[in-house]
Amino acid sequence: MPTIDIYLDQIEENVKKMLQICQKNDIKLTGVVKGAAGDQRVMQSFMDAGLTSIGDSRLKNIIALRQMGYEKEVILLRLPALSEIDDVIKYVDISLVSEVKTCRYLSDLAQKIGKKAGIIVMVDVGDLREGVLPEELIEFFAEIIKLPSLEIKGLGTNVGCYGGVLPTVKNTQKIIELKDRLENEFKLKLPMLSGGNTATTKLIEQGKLPAGINHLRVGEGLLQGTDITHQREIDYLNSYNFQLSAEIIELKEKPSLPTGEIGCDAFGNQPEFIDKGIRRRAILAVGRQDTEIEGLIPVLAGVQVLGASSDHLLVDVTDLAEEIQVGDKMRFYLNYSAMLRAMTSPYLAKQYHAK
Ligand SMILES: *Cc1c(COP(=O)(O)O)cnc(C)c1O
Repeated sequence: MPTIDIYLDQIEENVKKMLQICQKNDIKLTGVVKGAAGDQRVMQSFMDAGLTSIGDSRLKNIIALRQMGYEKEVILLRLPALSEIDDVIKYVDISLVSEVKTCRYLSDLAQKIGKKAGIIVMVDVGDLREGVLPEELIEFFAEIIKLPSLEIKGLGTNVGCYGGVLPTVKNTQKIIELKDRLENEFKLKLPMLSGGNTATTKLIEQGKLPAGINHLRVGEGLLQGTDITHQREIDYLNSYNFQLSAEIIELKEKPSLPTGEIGCDAFGNQPEFIDKGIRRRAILAVGRQDTEIEGLIPVLAGVQVLGASSDHLLVDVTDLAEEIQVGDKMRFYLNYSAMLRAMTSPYLAKQYHAK
């Protein structure tokens, strides 16, 4: 069975390190665990590291977290669906929101059970995923401040997710200006300014995070020690804490060009090949059902991923110096999206490495 190795010790170290950095900069850290797809051991290592705020985008994971005994703050990162508001009120402290209708539902249900629903209003500063556009924010607030059982905690922004927009001083600064305007206009206080995700940690490192941003929601950096938006490994964190190994089930010399007329592959794509002559090739017992092949990084030099079908991964091992044979396992680092997919595959065995 292919295996995913999970280095909990390194993840816990990452969380502790990021907590220190945030504390030094007067920033509250929400540890985002969603990339681990609700894995309880990973969630436990977040708790053990001392986080007082954990975020996930799926209620199922949040409910599991509560059932594990976690009683501190939970932030729901994906905009709540109207059909799940019951559970949001029950299990979540703060929801990120961008729709008045959703706020109405939250307030109504919270009021029914004598609670307040915490919200952070997301502002779209250009990445074009979620958020109220800045020019529509006054109107938005005019509606939601009428709602009796909402607790408006502040403003948030998210970049680097859909549009690939990088966090900059300018787009991060924007929510500070908006906060000032809203506080004046509506005579209220917005204590939380949630400045972004892993990509925003770069601004802290450069000493450029605008003063006033006092909250970050970091996932990838903690789990993987990487910052894919900036295409980098974060040098003070442990990288690649999820690794995949799969067994060699065929090892042969084969031509690098297929023989016969070329139609489409198993996924409807027309494959293209370069003739490199006869190559030594291994087939591994893992495939697209288990992970994102494009996100596999071979641990050994001289291994090159050629492609995959649902259940077969093909690698070129001609340039590999090490001796290998059928039955051996080959290991890969996973990037964030390969990790995400691997953590949801029921076909992978999980192996945990703790202190
Ligand atoms: C996933 C997510 C995060 C965390 O992003 P990373 O890049 O993993 O740090 C933060 N905020 C929101 C709204 C998210 O959906």
